Amino acid sequence: MVTRAARHPGEGRDLSESRRDLLSRDPGLRRDDGIWSVLESVPDPEIPVVSVVDLGIVRAVRPDRVTITPTYTGCPATQVIERDIRAALDAAGFRDVAIETVLAPPWTTDWITESGKTKLHAYGIAPPSLARTATCPQCGSTDTEELSRFGSTPCKAQWRCRACLEPFDRFKCH
Ligand SMILES: [Zn+2]
Repeated sequence: MVTRAARHPGEGRDLSESRRDLLSRDPGLRRDDGIWSVLESVPDPEIPVVSVVDLGIVRAVRPDRVTITPTYTGCPATQVIERDIRAALDAAGFRDVAIETVLAPPWTTDWITESGKTKLHAYGIAPPSLARTATCPQCGSTDTEELSRFGSTPCKAQWRCRACLEPFDRFKCH
C-alpha cells in the first residue's frame, strides 16, 4: 500500500498550484494525486490558513472516493467542510468522486500535519499539544494560562500569555 506520506514527501511544497497547472506539467499525474491537490486547496472554514488536508480531516483518497472525518462534532464548521470539498471537487471536474464521512475513529488533533501546525502557529493559534501549558504564539513564552474553555469557536480555548499579556487561541486536544 502506498501511503499518503510516500506520495507527498514534500510537506513544504507549494500547495496552491491548481490541479490544471499540475496536470499540464505532468500529464501522467495519477488521478488520486489530482484529487489530493484539489483537497489541499480547500481551506478550513474557520481557519483559512490551513487546508482540510493540513488538519487531517481527509483520511483517504481513492480515484472514486474521498474519505473524511470531521473535526469536533460540536463544531459548526463541520457542516460547511463537506459542502466546500464537494464544490471544489465539482469545480475541478471530479463530479464522480464520492465523499464518504467516517466518524470512527474520531478525529484527533494528532492528525494535524506538521505543516498544518506550523501554519497554525504562524497564524497565532497555539498548535495542540498534550503539554499542560501552551506556548505563546506571539513571544514563545510558556508562562501562559487558560482563561476560558471556549475561545473564538467551541474547538478552541482562550489562553493568555503572562509574559507579553497577549490573548491567544489554543486548539483543544481530544
Ligand atoms: Zn507571549
